[in-house]
Amino acid sequence: MPVRQTSAYALRTYALSEADQIVLFYTLDFGRLRSVAKGSRRIKSRFGSAFQTLTRSSLSFFEREGQELTRVSACEVEQSYYDVLLTPEAAATAAYFAELVQEFTAERDSNPAIFRLIGAVMEGVSEGVSLEVGARYFEVWMLRLSGVLPRLSECGGCGRQLSAERWVVPEPLEFICRQCRGGHSGSRWLSPGGTALLSEILRKPPMEVMHGTGQNRQAVQRLAAVNRLLIRGQLDKELRTVRYLDRLRHAGRRRSLRGPHRVEIPHGTSGETQ
Ligand SMILES: [Zn+2]
Repeated sequence: MPVRQTSAYALRTYALSEADQIVLFYTLDFGRLRSVAKGSRRIKSRFGSAFQTLTRSSLSFFEREGQELTRVSACEVEQSYYDVLLTPEAAATAAYFAELVQEFTAERDSNPAIFRLIGAVMEGVSEGVSLEVGARYFEVWMLRLSGVLPRLSECGGCGRQLSAERWVVPEPLEFICRQCRGGHSGSRWLSPGGTALLSEILRKPPMEVMHGTGQNRQAVQRLAAVNRLLIRGQLDKELRTVRYLDRLRHAGRRRSLRGPHRVEIPHGTSGETQ
């Protein structure tokens, strides 16, 4: 059995037996990979925290000819984001990134750019990029690297140059102009601010986006709704972690409304609503 070695992010684990689990990795050299980690469910496992979501490790694994499932031989932590992921929302966002990688990639299909994306966003978040801006960055690049981000410059309906605002429509996933949107139901508006954020994400690292258009909260929210439609349209389902994040935010809002220091949010100050 040959032993292979690569850098790997843990995406998630599945219990296999009382002591063992299957770990889903995204690796630099082999893409997405499933590997059995013997004894890893025991309290004193030799793998320590290497399988926590989006921990990066140096992974060695055995491979058997003709078998998809490999076996972990060693896994040494290279970079842990443990202290960044302590809040429920941060942990759920990391699980969301992991699920996006799982859903948008195929087993054993290596794409080093996706590997680098995980590192760039997690580094950014650990240096102060907000979870919302980090999530928009991850979504846009996941769509782009999977080849499913619609064309940005021309309308998918009439082919004319798109202005600062546009609408996204499902089936087929396209950005369309104001004139073309009439015949489409279920479209989502991307404001000029949201469009600027999208194009900045494609040109700059996460921290620069955070200090640039990432400051525009309305734009971040607009792009969130558009990305959600693009991702759902592409995968044909809502992700498990997205539903969980929705519930977390809903519970957070209920808590803050009940609190003694309720803050009224001013309306209609940004001109981004439509
Ligand atoms: Zn058009």
